[in-house]
Amino acid sequence: KEAGKNAWRSYRADLDTSREMIQRMSWNERIGRALEEDRFVLHFQGIYHTQSGVLAHLEVLLRMRDETDTEQLIMPGHFIPLAEKNGQILQIDRWVLKQSIALLQAKPDIPALAVNISGRSLDDPGLALFISDELLSAQVEPHRLMIEITETSALSDLQEAQRFIQALRHTGCIICLDDFGTGFASFAYLKHIKADILKIDGLFIRDIIFERDNKVFVKAIVDVARGLGKTTVAEFVESREIYAVLKEMGVDMVQGYYLDIPSGGHWQTKLSKPHQA
Ligand code: C2E
Ligand code: MG
Ligand code: MG
Ligand code: MG
Repeated sequence: KEAGKNAWRSYRADLDTSREMIQRMSWNERIGRALEEDRFVLHFQGIYHTQSGVLAHLEVLLRMRDETDTEQLIMPGHFIPLAEKNGQILQIDRWVLKQSIALLQAKPDIPALAVNISGRSLDDPGLALFISDELLSAQVEPHRLMIEITETSALSDLQEAQRFIQALRHTGCIICLDDFGTGFASFAYLKHIKADILKIDGLFIRDIIFERDNKVFVKAIVDVARGLGKTTVAEFVESREIYAVLKEMGVDMVQGYYLDIPSGGHWQTKLSKPHQA
């Protein structure tokens, strides 16, 4: 009976591995084909100056067009973690950067674009050079390109992140620490990670009306950021009430469904639409 149980267990384990392998292989293929067939799509979400309601810049958010139903867009949560596992993210991040720089070149009225970079790409040794080469050949001013790195990925390899950020700063790009506050045990590492912008994690913002503690955390981040001369952004601003609280607290910029829903098609309208503060 004991042996049978073991046998059954290892049979299940094999089955799980092969199923996982097939799934991963097919995603690998799907992502590879999407790259070949140009089926990735950029969406944009406005980020606004809190006091004036004027557009500050746009964040670039990636979607993947389904191979059969081209109307259907697959969200990054479905393919980014897999692309990070199999390494395709390096190619994806470069593709998004190239497209974004081309757009900045074509549309001088876009103030700036913020592009998300995976933690995996921090070890891509040529990435900083790739970015500066692309900016140079497109003749785009480097400060119009903002690079978002999550706090967690920066902290997971501090030295690698430091090297990358140093190189980007040298190029003149703006550095933003995304999802800030989720990994914070201390602010001390901000001495080593020279970011211009701290984007406060949306989980603190979404419930800020109801969770007193969240307000305390956000206030602390705003105070530290101000003291260090850094700009703060709040993501997940989903209501007028949240916007009002953040305005009173002195958060510099706001982003969220209340102000603008990420979209692709008619992004030009985002440029001319000052938000009613
Ligand atoms: P993120 O960089 O923190 O982006 C913010 C996410 O929150 C986006 O989800 C956005 O659509 C969503 N969001 C915006 N406003 C609100 C709001 O008011 N409430 C709520 N609940 N959510 C809001 P999305 O587009 O699904 O992207 C998810 C994550 O995928 C991003 O988080 C980023 O880490 C990653 N990602 C997106 N595009 C790229 C890319 O081009 N390259 C890489 N490496 N990662 C990307
Ligand atoms: Mg981001
Ligand atoms: Mg974020
Ligand atoms: Mg996030």
